[in-house]
Amino acid sequence: MSNLTYERPFIQKLNTGTMNKFGTRTEYAPVTHLESVPVKRIVADYGSPCFVISERQIRKNYQDAVRAFKTRYPKVQFAWSYKTNYLDAVCNIFHQEGSWAEVVSIFEYRKALNNGVPGNKIIFNGPDKSAADLELAVDNNSLIHIDHFDELYELAALLQASKKKARVAIRVNMDTGVYPMWDRFGFNYENGQAWNAITKIMSQQEMELVGLHCHIGTYMLSAAAYGTAAWKLCDLAVNIKTKWNKSLQYLDLGGGFASANTLKGSYLQGADVIPSIDDYAEAITSTILNSAIRQNELPMLILETGRALVDDAAWLVGSVVATKRLSDGRRATIMDFGVNLLFTAFWYNHKVSPAQEFSHHTEDMVLYGPLCMNIDVIRDSVNLPLLNKGDHVVVHKVGAYNMTQWMQFIQMRPKIIIIDMEGKTHIVRESESLETMLRYEKRPDHLSQSSL
Ligand SMILES: *Cc1c(COP(=O)(O)O)cnc(C)c1O
Repeated sequence: MSNLTYERPFIQKLNTGTMNKFGTRTEYAPVTHLESVPVKRIVADYGSPCFVISERQIRKNYQDAVRAFKTRYPKVQFAWSYKTNYLDAVCNIFHQEGSWAEVVSIFEYRKALNNGVPGNKIIFNGPDKSAADLELAVDNNSLIHIDHFDELYELAALLQASKKKARVAIRVNMDTGVYPMWDRFGFNYENGQAWNAITKIMSQQEMELVGLHCHIGTYMLSAAAYGTAAWKLCDLAVNIKTKWNKSLQYLDLGGGFASANTLKGSYLQGADVIPSIDDYAEAITSTILNSAIRQNELPMLILETGRALVDDAAWLVGSVVATKRLSDGRRATIMDFGVNLLFTAFWYNHKVSPAQEFSHHTEDMVLYGPLCMNIDVIRDSVNLPLLNKGDHVVVHKVGAYNMTQWMQFIQMRPKIIIIDMEGKTHIVRESESLETMLRYEKRPDHLSQSSL
């Protein structure tokens, strides 16, 4: 019989009063494997911390979403939101599945071209497109989604000078009953600005208005808001048909569907409060089908879903650097990853699981990152089994935005690996190193050395 692991003595604070309405906690289970790959092996082969992506989960999420929409409305096209996760390997999974590219900067635009996405399957969103960016998009016959009047006039001038034609849409912002309203992007529906932009575009011979776009927010907890948004886009489309006898090729409802992460301050777990993809699909498709748009003129429905397709398809594996007591007696655990890698820790309570067997003693603790920075907190208060230096943990649902919004501050960014459909692992992004950083630095002669 093997020896039992040593368990140190401890003093536990007993909480009197009512129990949490969900009863005692039962959610703990060590996560020793990601799919079939042992966490220990990931750390040994790729180091800690390390992002791990599941190809299988991405494909499944995509196929489930397509099914939810296509079974209700056959003319559906997804466009992968690059900024949510623009690793080439991830983008190419979506492109292999049939997704177009949705980009919000020239950097992302070039990344999509570099991934082999045909220009006419790139949707160019965002408020900052230079004249040169617009020209490139025009030459590639991309879908240009105009954000404001300055962009509209710049594009008009450019097209008039070059005698080229562009396929355009406008981004429309509107009141969907969810506040604060996202009115900083696009043209407003209620005050007539959107209609004004449409009439300007229709008067330009070089611009063809092919669609209407909106992206009403992110992590939207209301499916009904999408019904409202779709209704307002349909209303504009019907008015365009009435005034110019022109039917639009597509309505683009943007992204923003919630992922199963739990928002800070939410009493219930994310998975228990978010609408399902079917709920969103039902709200959008039934609104379009029930609108006054004629059956044979129904537009293609484009979706730019980001976080809901990728958040639960990645984990962050990390290790405990140290444990300590704070002056108020609370337990603190310091991890080798912080908000530099987990930007989303600012608004999500990420689920963290120990990656090895543990004793049954749990304690409320703070999870800190390794940065010398007070705001580097992964969880303000989380009840976890006691972790020891060197233990590994797995942070769940980190696939959206972390690998694009991460920051290089006092530490290098780590490796990102993917587990393929056969359970094999591949590096999809190398860890950065001192050389990575020095490559961009220059030392003027007089600052090239010192003599201490
Ligand atoms: C960020 C973004 C998306 C994706 O949003 P999610 O909330 O991740 O689904 C889609 N469209 C536009 C225009 C965006 O800026």
